[in-house]
Amino acid sequence: MEEIKIPKEYFINIEGLREGVNEFKYTTDGLYLEIGELQKGIEIQLKVTKIVKRLIVKGKIIFSLELECARCLEKYIIKFTEGISSVFLPNNPSGIKSEEETEDPDVNFYTGKTISLVQLIRDIILLAIPIKPLCSVSCKGICPVCGKNLNEADCGCPRE
Ligand SMILES: [Zn+2]
Ligand SMILES: [Zn+2]
Repeated sequence: MEEIKIPKEYFINIEGLREGVNEFKYTTDGLYLEIGELQKGIEIQLKVTKIVKRLIVKGKIIFSLELECARCLEKYIIKFTEGISSVFLPNNPSGIKSEEETEDPDVNFYTGKTISLVQLIRDIILLAIPIKPLCSVSCKGICPVCGKNLNEADCGCPRE
């Protein structure tokens, strides 16, 4: 099996950052994430604030998903804009973490000179997938008798 190369956009090169705010905006491929519903092209807008070894990552992930409506079973594409917010701290070699670090779910740890955003972005996209997708809140669904999509026209089947 051929391995899909992770696009470089998923990594933050720590050495390339200046102290203070660093802004990034780019579009990358979502193929690597292997999420079937995900459409081509993810827009990533990041503000990475570097304070010595602490990195505060905030921004937006803009992507589109192709979902199947739970009522009418039609496929539809919907655009999402989800926030990304995380703090990266260097891995403490002693393994002892402060209370703030262990209790805050947004805190992550890094080793080396690059930070991978793959897991973070993947989780954000997976969390955005609704359990019961609807093409529209007013979707009429399909007729249980003849199976016609009632958004297109009424089929005239008797209803109780
Ligand atoms: Zn529908
Ligand atoms: Zn019908």
